[in-house]
Amino acid sequence: MKTEGRAREILRKAIDGGRIDDDEALTLLREADLLELGQAANIVRNRLNDPKVVTFIVDRNINYTNVCVYKCRFCAFYRKPGDPESYLLTRDELRQKIRETVELGGTGVLLQGGVHPDLPLEYYTDLLSWMREEFPEVHRHAFSPPEILFISRMTKKPLREVIGALIEAGLQSIPGGGAEILVDEIRLASLSYPKASTAGWLDVMRTGHELGLRTTATMMYGQGEKPEHRIEHMRRVRDLQDETGGFTAFIAWTFQRENTEMQEIEEEDGVSYLRHQALARLYMDNIRSIQSSWVTQGLGIGQLALKFGANDMGSIMIEENVVAAAGAENHVTTEEMKRLIRQSGYEPVQRLTLYDGWVEEGTGHRVRELAGAETGSGLNLELNSGIKRKIGRIQS
Ligand code: SF4
Repeated sequence: MKTEGRAREILRKAIDGGRIDDDEALTLLREADLLELGQAANIVRNRLNDPKVVTFIVDRNINYTNVCVYKCRFCAFYRKPGDPESYLLTRDELRQKIRETVELGGTGVLLQGGVHPDLPLEYYTDLLSWMREEFPEVHRHAFSPPEILFISRMTKKPLREVIGALIEAGLQSIPGGGAEILVDEIRLASLSYPKASTAGWLDVMRTGHELGLRTTATMMYGQGEKPEHRIEHMRRVRDLQDETGGFTAFIAWTFQRENTEMQEIEEEDGVSYLRHQALARLYMDNIRSIQSSWVTQGLGIGQLALKFGANDMGSIMIEENVVAAAGAENHVTTEEMKRLIRQSGYEPVQRLTLYDGWVEEGTGHRVRELAGAETGSGLNLELNSGIKRKIGRIQS
């Protein structure tokens, strides 16, 4: 099928730098030819990012606990408090995991749990300060909005105060987990509303951005929502990005049903994944990076996604437990990741957590670019600096 009429005009508009609205996004999703959609996304990707480079990160997802007070229907990872399979990692276990990460050339850790009912704010702040003390070179990307909202509810402290305390203890950025579909009707149906409403998730991110943190934005789709809901999700994220400029990347993946309560849902296929990712690249015109979800899609589709708007392959996944619990288990070594990227026709670059620098091959030095250097500005103007790189400082 070739793209015709209105869909073709919309693709042209996006290629020319115009912003597409929700109706236009829906038209593209329904009517655009897959390859033409991908081609347009690739052009936009190349405008916003170095066309020759695909980035990835060496880090580890550490799920410090699987105990959770919530029961999201799409989740195969959580265990109820007291369940024989429940765990809370000890300091020694955490130390061991972080040490292994550093030995593998890792630069960061993503810490995320279930939502444990009995951990006070001090548990989180002590954990961050301990990490800062023991592994100062490891970036602390920690605690998704549902965990932060829960701490705020339990302590009856405002979000600003909770996030402020976490930052003081060593928090450096917030992962975008727990977004799934940011439409309350869908959250109510999947039982994810109690952990975070749409407004609650966005409030955590807005407050984090206002306090100077950068965060990622995620989306997990294919849980029975309509295309309109997916677009509404992207609009909520795009609107907040217009307001704060604090999102570094948009990372979308598809619902994996194994071991979940949602066996009735058909999983999305690779074609649907590529179509959505290309649309996300065109629609999210104010977020520079789009990450390919090879972990849920497999390495082949993960590579193809690089031709459909993605500029980043995400983590090599030294450890991942959440989607693995739902049947999608994928890991690669750093060398395999580089090979996959080269095979796809790009130069692999190991980036840092905030997408603001990279690890120099051979020396292992971390090199940072100055975001917004041309304008003297920070977050919001990063896109204007395009692919020009200015090296800010070098640290070993
Ligand atoms: S998705 Fe997160 S909040 Fe929901 S049940 Fe699973 S671990 Fe708990």
